[in-house]
Amino acid sequence: MTAQVETALRGPEAYALAHRVIDSMQQASVWPTPLNYELWLHYVSDPDSPLSREMQRLLAGDTPFTEATAEMLAAEFLPRGRLSEEIRDVGAVLNRELAAVAEAIDNARQTQAAYGETLTSASEKMQGAEGTTDLSAIVSTLSSATRRVQHHTSTLEKRLESSNREVLRLREHLEQVRRDAMTDALTNLANRKTFDEQLARLCEEAETDGKGLTLALVDIDHFKRFNDTWGHQTGDQVLRYVASVLGRIARDPRVAARYGGEEFAVIFPGETRGTVEAALNAIREEIASRSLRRRSTNDDLGAVTISVGFAERHVGETALSVLERADAALYVSKRSGRNCVTDAESMAQAAA
Ligand code: GH3
Ligand code: MG
Ligand code: MG
Repeated sequence: MTAQVETALRGPEAYALAHRVIDSMQQASVWPTPLNYELWLHYVSDPDSPLSREMQRLLAGDTPFTEATAEMLAAEFLPRGRLSEEIRDVGAVLNRELAAVAEAIDNARQTQAAYGETLTSASEKMQGAEGTTDLSAIVSTLSSATRRVQHHTSTLEKRLESSNREVLRLREHLEQVRRDAMTDALTNLANRKTFDEQLARLCEEAETDGKGLTLALVDIDHFKRFNDTWGHQTGDQVLRYVASVLGRIARDPRVAARYGGEEFAVIFPGETRGTVEAALNAIREEIASRSLRRRSTNDDLGAVTISVGFAERHVGETALSVLERADAALYVSKRSGRNCVTDAESMAQAAA
């Protein structure tokens, strides 16, 4: 799910959006299956996306929109949501590898057993035959049995080697899939899901260790206007630029994430208001003072600014409550003219 759709789902218009999605599915005469719902959610909330444009094309044509159509669209346009399928595919490949290895081991074992029998019978013949034995026949039987064992052993070795390579490849692939599922594709920062998990975990850790934690929310100012003036693609470049500045200050253990649309979040574990405020003001100034250029045409885009709200976690406070206070502080920054940083604590003092 894209950040835009994620945001729409949790925003103030979420229920209205759900109604529009259902209406639109009914108009198109498709069933509200979970997959269709996901597709139509994108279709309704992000009509300019490649997926929506393809759906418009398909719906305008004569062919009915079947479950196969939905599957095809999902496979092409919603790959990040198809994590479980990736895992199922990997599971199937692993099963094939294991079956092949088991067969090679079984073959080798049978040959070994047959070899043992050949040795026993050769030894019996030699003991019973008192000098008249045809030694060359026994030696020839033994050597061909030995070759069979060697052949199966080397087949087994090759099989194990190739399985080993395949398992390593699958492991790397799964690791990549896991990284993709945690990351926002546009900015390469952590995505909303990862952020929510990290914030919950780090708040619990802060509670246990008795350490501080500060959370900042960052929102680009007048970004709609920027998009309207320069286009969505250039808007995307700005998102990447702001993300790269945030990513630079958010070295481990800090966590920077794309919280949704043009909003970012930074977690500062173990840090208190003073150091965080200085860091946030430094990046706010850096962004505001840098004149941006459009890559394709070298047009001067001027500078963008960001508004920031941050809150230091109180003892016993939940992740949700810290988020709400940081969000309220961000709102104050917007109301005070933007391009500024507001501490949730200063609001609390002002209100007292
Ligand atoms: P404010 O200063 O009050 O934050 O105003 P704003 O225009 O930034 O805020 P608003 O919430 O009205 O608009 C946010 C805009 O962000 C609207 C949307 O087009 C844009 N946006 C959200 N996600 C993306 C994205 O992935 N790419 C681009 N280019 N724009 C996006
Ligand atoms: Mg904004
Ligand atoms: Mg916003």
